[in-house]
Amino acid sequence: MVSRQLRASGGIWIHFQGTHIHIDPGPGALVRAVSSRPPLNPPDLHAILVSHRHLDHANDLNIMVEAMTQGGTKKRGSVFLPREALQGEPILFSYLREFLNEIVFLETGGQYRVGNISFTTPLRHEHTTETYGFSFSFPQGTVSLVVDTLFTEKLFEAYAKSDCLIIHTMRLKPAEHLELLHLSVEDARILIENIRPRLAILTHFGMTMLQAKPWEIAEKLTEKTGIPVIAARDRMTLNLDSF
Ligand SMILES: [Zn+2]
Repeated sequence: MVSRQLRASGGIWIHFQGTHIHIDPGPGALVRAVSSRPPLNPPDLHAILVSHRHLDHANDLNIMVEAMTQGGTKKRGSVFLPREALQGEPILFSYLREFLNEIVFLETGGQYRVGNISFTTPLRHEHTTETYGFSFSFPQGTVSLVVDTLFTEKLFEAYAKSDCLIIHTMRLKPAEHLELLHLSVEDARILIENIRPRLAILTHFGMTMLQAKPWEIAEKLTEKTGIPVIAARDRMTLNLDSF
């Protein structure tokens, strides 16, 4: 999916009361941002959040830091990421770290604030590297991003308060081998039925999902769960006042 760019892989951009955060700058993050209409302006960013070090979530981290700090001429912003992302082969070049105000390591139960946006990382996910999902608190409700993980019932409590649940639904069917550690449509259904958000959004599709038409899968999940489920599209915008 990513290498053929069948779906964009640049991540998610949050804008709330003047605070801008970019989550998981995968391949194409910079190009997709500046070519958006209207453009998303990297020097406006206050923070970049990385859920885990895999390429589809972090490939453009370095260039986004470069862009956020205007080529290092403006010391600015924070990067939040798991400690493991800077171990072994660090995903953030050391010379770019000087351009940042701070680097913050994510942890289970961590509570963070960037400008007017508060978020938590309720749980370390079960994935092949240190990985965290995010819950953002807004006056309109809590928006959670359940990123790559093996399905576990711990997710129910971790994301219980979510009004909007964004689920990385990579697989149409559960994997025969668990080592890939990604959620399937059935896992998404169980999550939605237990957490009962006001809105669920499926994203991060693998090839089997795309072939199965994610918007039709979302429709079926809406019927089954009684909760509105939509499939993410490239350049989709979610207005916080809409749910
Ligand atoms: Zn991953």
